Amino acid sequence: MKRVSIFGSTGSIGENTVDLIARAPEEYEVVALSGGRNIARLAEQAISLNAKLAVTCFPEYKQDLAELLSGTGIEVAAGPMAIAEAAERPVDWVMSAIVGAAGLVPGLKALEQGATLALANKESLVCAGELLMRTARANKADVLPVDSEHSAVWQALVGEDISAVERVIITASGGAFRDWPLEDLPKATPEQASTHPNWDMGQRITVDSASMFNKSLELIETREFFGFDPRQIEVLVHPQSLVHALIGFNDGGLMAHVGPADMRHAIGYALHYPHRRSLPVERLDLARIGKLEFREPSEARWPALRLAREVMAMRGLAGAVFNAAKERAMDSFLAREIRFTDMAVVVEEVLSAMEGENALKCDRMCLEDVIETDHVARMRAAEAAARINMDA
Ligand code: NAD
Ligand code: MG
Repeated sequence: MKRVSIFGSTGSIGENTVDLIARAPEEYEVVALSGGRNIARLAEQAISLNAKLAVTCFPEYKQDLAELLSGTGIEVAAGPMAIAEAAERPVDWVMSAIVGAAGLVPGLKALEQGATLALANKESLVCAGELLMRTARANKADVLPVDSEHSAVWQALVGEDISAVERVIITASGGAFRDWPLEDLPKATPEQASTHPNWDMGQRITVDSASMFNKSLELIETREFFGFDPRQIEVLVHPQSLVHALIGFNDGGLMAHVGPADMRHAIGYALHYPHRRSLPVERLDLARIGKLEFREPSEARWPALRLAREVMAMRGLAGAVFNAAKERAMDSFLAREIRFTDMAVVVEEVLSAMEGENALKCDRMCLEDVIETDHVARMRAAEAAARINMDA
């Protein structure tokens, strides 16, 4: 039996992972599940998968969770420390599907015990890629991509000579405002930003798709996972979301990965690797789909893409600042304190201020520095957002 834990099991990626595991319960021993406020669903998952431990990140929900699970023999715990401890429990495979920088510590703990880390939580690679990959190497543990584009790159590279790769293209749907007139973007509401044309995902990544902060995180994620030079990594807008990535080789050939917009494909690939197994996803009918379009992304519409390039050039702790400022700016947008277009303004301001203060330098990245930098960047972003709000 494969021993597995799922962090963020009640979210969109988490539910898709649970779905695959629940289809073959005899193959898995589920050690730990973690969630947030939706403890009814967390308890339901823990019971149906016969998990050993269920953890909510909110201590105030511990009692309710314990009541839901009383008499089942399933252990209950709560709080960020309890999630980190759950990640120390020995398993073979861990799904990292918490949203945001909160996924970093559980991911590190999983790698420290030598588990294979299936990484949906791109934020941890963006804020601490060097640390995460070093921890993986030191413990001979693997980090496997789950993000659809990165799973696509990984799959398209199987058996290839990496030195023959000239460029990597990751695609972007363009999100909710792809075709909006530019002048309407400042008026976009949280509700409008929270709908996605093709994918059914958590709210935060959906808003990040509208602003392309998601793709900017993914540019950095591509460098951290595969080691490509930032100049080799390109983004193309592809409204159909069926071609997830393309690899351009030095003989002029392009290898594309095409698949349904269903995360169970990428999750299943990481779950069953190095084998391919039949998955319960749609088989594409390309004749019915008819056409696949590609466009150059506009930096006027999506300044986040330019910011990602700047972050990659700055290195050090720039990724931690970028991600934290972005997370905090989104909190302000969702609370209607700043406009949709102000998110990039806030992030750029925090990034350039902290770079100017030499706060991004680090010789050997450590967790304490990442956490401290994340904290400072969030404070700065809150201040910047408050200033913008007052000016408005
Ligand atoms: P989601 O919001 O649907 O779920 C997030 C999960 O994390 C929930 O279980 C929630 O309870 C938990 N959580 C939230 N805040 C937490 C905290 N502070 N501490 C501990 N747990 C917390 O998000 P999602 O869409 O499933 O995305 C999860 C991760 O996967 C993100 O990093 C996202 O960028 C990445 N990802 C998602 C998709 C997708 O299709 N949804 C695709 C690619 C990558
Ligand atoms: Mg993606």
